[in-house]
Amino acid sequence: MPLAEELKKIIDHLPENVRLVAVSKTMPLEVLMEAYRAGQRIFGENKVQELVHKYEELPKDIEWHYIGHLQTNKVKYIAGFVQLIHAVDSLKLLKVIDKEAQKANRCISCLLQIKIASEDSKFGLSRQEAVSLLQSESLPLLKNIRISGLMGMASYTDDSEQVRREFQNLYTIFKKLKEDYFKASDDFSEISMGMSHDYPIALEEGATLIRVGSLIFGERNYNT
Ligand SMILES: *Cc1c(COP(=O)(O)O)cnc(C)c1O
Repeated sequence: MPLAEELKKIIDHLPENVRLVAVSKTMPLEVLMEAYRAGQRIFGENKVQELVHKYEELPKDIEWHYIGHLQTNKVKYIAGFVQLIHAVDSLKLLKVIDKEAQKANRCISCLLQIKIASEDSKFGLSRQEAVSLLQSESLPLLKNIRISGLMGMASYTDDSEQVRREFQNLYTIFKKLKEDYFKASDDFSEISMGMSHDYPIALEEGATLIRVGSLIFGERNYNT
């Protein structure tokens, strides 16, 4: 199916409060432009160098999301323009993002990545680790970051009931943290979950951001 049609098919079925992050990692500029011309404005990347290059070359009304594991020494390259960092999993990283955001005179929105999959290869915080981070005394000192919600990746499995349980778990953790730590603010409002193969389940379980790549752009080729 042509890219524009695939995009439309996904967007037409999104509830009003849900946004699509088109995950364009490994895709060349002209393919991103095709999605842009079809109306897509939010793109997700997981390599700093690639993101910077695409940011420099493409229209400035694109909203760039960083969706991968971010190393502290690379934050400075994206702090000037990134709109949302999806996978923050330590206070140390938050502090660096804050410092670089301050230099750039910006406030950067971040999601805490929660480990919901049973596979242990995935990055992310446990619920308890997220609680410790939110209770940390230094967190209120970070004026140039905003914790906007949570992000998670389900297990890579055909067992859709397992995937559903993992998304439900993320939603439950989200509700509880919102209640305990963000009651007086609207800041904490995003749940980033769901990829090409499991986003319909994520929508049913309360996602507000879905991160879809291969379904829109086709399979990635990491060798070229
Ligand atoms: C690559 C990637 C996606 C998109 O995966 P698809 O299966 O191509 O939709 C979503 N989230 C993260 C964190 C990714 O790295």
